[in-house]
Amino acid sequence: MILIDGKKTAEKIKAEIKAEVAGFIDTHDKAPHLAAILVGEDPASETYVAHKEKDCKSVGITSSIYRLGKNASEKDVLDTIDFINNDEDIHGVICQLPLPENIDVNRIIAHIDPRKDVDGFHPVNLGNMMLGNSTFLPATPYGIMELLKRYKIETAGKHCVVLGRSNIVGTPMSILMSRKANPGNATVTMCHSRSKDLKEIAASADILIAALGQAEFVSADMVKKGAVVIDVGIHRVEAPNTKSGFRLIGDVKFEEVAKKAAAITPVPGGVGPMTRVALLLNTLTAFKALKGK
Ligand code: NDP
Repeated sequence: MILIDGKKTAEKIKAEIKAEVAGFIDTHDKAPHLAAILVGEDPASETYVAHKEKDCKSVGITSSIYRLGKNASEKDVLDTIDFINNDEDIHGVICQLPLPENIDVNRIIAHIDPRKDVDGFHPVNLGNMMLGNSTFLPATPYGIMELLKRYKIETAGKHCVVLGRSNIVGTPMSILMSRKANPGNATVTMCHSRSKDLKEIAASADILIAALGQAEFVSADMVKKGAVVIDVGIHRVEAPNTKSGFRLIGDVKFEEVAKKAAAITPVPGGVGPMTRVALLLNTLTAFKALKGK
């Protein structure tokens, strides 16, 4: 069984990004710059944005946070996006989700300059992804595609089952795996909460991607012997015997599924670090495109 090590792979990619950024600073006296918009005081969002800032720093990408109070209006957010769109020293922007209920998330995303939309959520970029054009891919699917590529996992002609159809994970993942590309060229089945016979469908997968948000949902009987299993889920559960008092688990029952799988991502240390590094890759891409490099 191969343990698909997202942490190690992400570190390797970060070293590659760091070298490239250092080159830009040497020759052009400029580093890529990622701006994050944070609305309100959601603790999880604060943590995610802090991680993004730390990741940027570790590779030499400049980062800034635009903080808006919990009572910010939709116009306040749109105005902030206008400011960032027009600042030629900022190359990528993300608006941390979720947004307060009074703000229409689709309007916000559509207002971002698609050339700076490093989350890859803008309709233009999603459309380009669907057409197979080069574009910003949403971070989690992008990170998974990089893992499949770097671990040389054969996807052509395989049956790939994606569990979950969210706009940020399941749906783009199923599109990418069915594209005429490598990785890609798989026969894809996407399952969701209304799918019938989900267990049987999962058990027929050569590549199983679990993105349901249901802790340890996938058991060994739902996995074909020799399958590749990608676990996207992240759940924090109490663990009184650990220093932090909690541990992370995924959507897959790791211990029993690992015995049957040919390759599997762990949680933590699988898809999570790759999602984080994918945002850096997209920021680098945005910088190069905007600067004509
Ligand atoms: P969503 O809640 O947005 O989507 C979950 C999807 O799973 C939906 O399509 C839903 O179906 C489907 N689903 C839920 N329960 C069942 C069930 N019992 N049977 C079949 N289908 C089901 O989640 P996300 O896509 O945003 O995230 C999925 C998981 O991945 C979460 O644990 C999240 O924390 C994690 N995540 C991890 C990331 C990482 O970097 N590792 C990044 C992003 C997310 P329906 O559409 O019918 O409701």
